[in-house]
Amino acid sequence: MTCFEGATLIDGKGNSFVANLLIEEDRILRILKDEECPKDVETIDCKGKYILPGLINSHVHICADPTKDFGDRPAFSDAKRAFIGLKNLQSHLRAGITFVRDLGGYNFVELELRDAIKNGDFQGAEMIGSGQCITMTGGHGWTHGREVDGVDEARKAAREQFKAGADLIKVMATGGVMTPGVEPGASQLCQEEMAAAIEEAKKRGAKSATHAQGTQGIKNAILAGVDSIEHGIFLDDEVISMMVERGVVLVPTLVAPYYIVQMGEEAGIPSYAVNKAKSIMEAHKESFRKAVEAGVKIAMGTDSGTPFNQHGSVVQELIFMQRGGLSPMEVLEAATYKAAELLSIEKNYGSLEEGKRADFLILEQNPLEDLRALETPTVYKKGKKVII
Ligand SMILES: [Zn+2]
Repeated sequence: MTCFEGATLIDGKGNSFVANLLIEEDRILRILKDEECPKDVETIDCKGKYILPGLINSHVHICADPTKDFGDRPAFSDAKRAFIGLKNLQSHLRAGITFVRDLGGYNFVELELRDAIKNGDFQGAEMIGSGQCITMTGGHGWTHGREVDGVDEARKAAREQFKAGADLIKVMATGGVMTPGVEPGASQLCQEEMAAAIEEAKKRGAKSATHAQGTQGIKNAILAGVDSIEHGIFLDDEVISMMVERGVVLVPTLVAPYYIVQMGEEAGIPSYAVNKAKSIMEAHKESFRKAVEAGVKIAMGTDSGTPFNQHGSVVQELIFMQRGGLSPMEVLEAATYKAAELLSIEKNYGSLEEGKRADFLILEQNPLEDLRALETPTVYKKGKKVII
């Protein structure tokens, strides 16, 4: 047992208080608010420091290389993808992201990685994944997705993902930035196709996410019963109130177009992607601001793996979320407990509570004053200090 003494705990559910945190093996045994650390256990002095749950990134592409995967580049072999993915899971963990959700993998390599981490074969962030994204023929993400046309094929594709071990599914409701020849604002899979795939997920008690940027496509996905809108670039008032009513979560990924525009064609990103990213950035920010104001549930996700959107980099996204209207405490909730709920892992992860997994970060500075305090965390995974 180890007792972390005297830190301010930020619990992931909107509370902060000074307490002693008693860890037994991989679990939080007790949170001692008015009691001293037990005399007979190892004690680590954390007075003046801050402890919060390990962060959860709800949208990554773990096997994508942000310096090379620019949409129209040659594909890597599965073996190469596995090495890229493992390195990326380690980068996330080192940065304090102890759990990720992959939303668009490559030939199920990422699901093998998920299992290897779970089995303890390697150190890295834990993961759940959607398998291949389900898209229409020639639709967004088709180069590594499962192309479907029609209700029956969409249903079959969902069943294939679960057969391969996926934890959830991802359907593509609209075009996007990184695939050439598709438009972010244009609808893609139709409502009936998405509904069939989502029904297969619901039958298993699994969730569904959608890449959805244009307003009509977002609406189609909500009506099809989806759990989370990824990106949500063109949200109007009607869509926002539908999300609030149905408890649909927004995963904004505000940094994804930002890095594409910042690095530009000079860095090798194709001009079609740079131009599309430029054209949507303002609407993206405005939609996020409106969603926050209306009380849409937000979970943090970065879309790591898109151009120059590095795995393990998260602070910029948190700062953009704060600029969009969330308080630092709300940003941290979106990156911990609310994300855990979206991933259906909240029984074990996402907050500092007795009985939960001892995944936590120790910070020298107060993140509620400045989120940049998260740039240099000391990371604990399953009760052990991370050294990788
Ligand atoms: Zn993505």
